[in-house]
Amino acid sequence: MSEWSPDIDRLRAFDDGEWLAVEREYAGRLLAYVARRVPDVQAREDVVQEVFLGAVRGIGSFDDSYTFEQYLFGICRNRTIDHLRRRQALAPGGADDGEGPDLFDDLAGETETPSRIVRRDDLWGRGSELLTEILRAWVQETWEAGELRRLMVIEALFSGGWRNRDTWQRFGLRDETAVAGIKFRALKRLRELAAARDPGGHLVQALSQEAAGGQAPIDVARAWRENRVSCPARHWLARLRAGTLDEGPAEFIRFHLEEMKCPWCLANQDDLERSEDSLDPLLEKVRASTARYLRSRTL
Ligand SMILES: [Zn+2]
Repeated sequence: MSEWSPDIDRLRAFDDGEWLAVEREYAGRLLAYVARRVPDVQAREDVVQEVFLGAVRGIGSFDDSYTFEQYLFGICRNRTIDHLRRRQALAPGGADDGEGPDLFDDLAGETETPSRIVRRDDLWGRGSELLTEILRAWVQETWEAGELRRLMVIEALFSGGWRNRDTWQRFGLRDETAVAGIKFRALKRLRELAAARDPGGHLVQALSQEAAGGQAPIDVARAWRENRVSCPARHWLARLRAGTLDEGPAEFIRFHLEEMKCPWCLANQDDLERSEDSLDPLLEKVRASTARYLRSRTL
């Protein structure tokens, strides 16, 4: 079962029907993402409405190396941050009003500081794309081999930033050395995958630096999280919910949701739990503003 994704050319041509399909498909999961961060129901809907408008306006510069869902969630994250910043600025003394402790901090933690992004992107250019590609390939082969414990350990280290000390205990490994061994082997395999795709050898070199514990000019954690290299497709979340998954995949997905707290998969999970028709008022609202914009572009 593959995920539905829209026809980007039709979206670029401001095709009303395709945009309507996009709204129906994604409004629920976007609302679920915002709902975990914005307590006010009205404000949540406004944010989702802005996300769709932003998506229509920006579709001309959509980058095909991302999925459409990543594109939407990226806009959603930015609009949510904008909203929380505005709300924080309005609150007396800029203090937290107690409605949503830590939410803004969590969200801010999902983004890198701009200077760091610039520095790494300068150094890397296409490097981060290639890094994402080999991480995905590694996740895929590890998943297919049923090595889900190894996948969890690596996700905890690479994406979660866990220390070896915490990791071996969580996964019932012999000691810290066992964790270091798993990391060493993963980086070795990543270098092999990189070597096949990167004749210049820059990524291989950077991965060696990473393995040696040096300051490698790559950001594995960021590539992992932002490009969702280990996120299960939505139908896996549905199967977890229905209780029809084997224990291995189920354990990984629960870990990804509950311990890695992947914001995008949590949003999909919340969305799967919502009742069918509860979205109708939001969809009407979104439709009104999107359709108005589409008409202004196509008349
Ligand atoms: Zn995820």
